[in-house]
Amino acid sequence: MRRCGPKVAWAGAKRVSAGFFPLLVLAWVGYAALAADSAPYAPLPHPLVVEQVPGEPIYYTLGSSGVPNHDNEGNTSNAGFIVTADGVVVFDALGTPSLGWNLLQAIRKVTHEPVRYNVVSHYHADHIYGLQAFKDHTSSLIVAQERATEYREDEETSGERAVQRLDQRRQALAPWVDAATRVVPPDITFTQQATLYLGGKRFELIYAGPAHSASDSMMMVEPDRVLFAGDVVQNGRIPFMNADDVDTANWLRSLDKVEKLDPKFIIPGHGRPSSDAKDAIAFTRDYITYVRAAMGTAAADWADFNAAYAQTDWSKYKNMPAFDANNRGNAYRIFLEMERSEFKTQNQ
Ligand SMILES: [Zn+2]
Repeated sequence: MRRCGPKVAWAGAKRVSAGFFPLLVLAWVGYAALAADSAPYAPLPHPLVVEQVPGEPIYYTLGSSGVPNHDNEGNTSNAGFIVTADGVVVFDALGTPSLGWNLLQAIRKVTHEPVRYNVVSHYHADHIYGLQAFKDHTSSLIVAQERATEYREDEETSGERAVQRLDQRRQALAPWVDAATRVVPPDITFTQQATLYLGGKRFELIYAGPAHSASDSMMMVEPDRVLFAGDVVQNGRIPFMNADDVDTANWLRSLDKVEKLDPKFIIPGHGRPSSDAKDAIAFTRDYITYVRAAMGTAAADWADFNAAYAQTDWSKYKNMPAFDANNRGNAYRIFLEMERSEFKTQNQ
């Protein structure tokens, strides 16, 4: 759906809270508030490093490869932003309000166009705590797949447990995550697909879940063919898969989807970007396939998980970042998934 007159148009999206598209005056007030503020969150010892997609007004930051801790300041995921003549679209918001604020400052160094939208790849702590800085200091609208609304600070959820996670991060990432840190819900949700038109660019939001999480989404920027893939694609570290909403069979299908989209440049949720989609998805695809094969054989034999885990050769992965934190839990979750599908097959 393309509309004349207004500079923004949506297809396939639904507003979930009160409010309206940002008016110019709101944008101005938001900018004035931003200019008047000086670092409202705990300062970061290391500034964010912003890189640019060659030849495009598209920027990104790269997190370090480990799990969020004091040494890496919680800066473990990737985020990005696209500058258009009518405003800025941000993809993901990093893992603390301080990081979100620093991302906003990085945007301000490139443009004074208002931030119109924060598109979120999925609701996990390492991608969303920075939303608070955008919510409190801009008039940007937060956009996510509708299952993101299951992730609530005031309620236990089935996936990553939002309440416990916030408690854990207040300990692990103090002072950047503190008592004032909160989960900011989306303003707009979509189900399968949504299109946003802004400043001559088209932003295709594509539901790719449940895979790594219930609400996994990707954003293809057209006509540039730059794909922000979120955590469906992760490079150079063992991904986190130990949650109820992980679906590795569908995850593999989503990786096929990434390959078919044939992006010119792909920015994963974690790890280095690539101009070769096949190369970018290779690690995630290989790892999921490997764990599924090992645990699938064990589940088909009705073997014990501990024995199956001990018998599996992990040498290919055991020196990778986040192996100790994630691998055993991942294997167990996949073992349960394979057991379920085994049970289904036998009862059909
Ligand atoms: Zn992540």
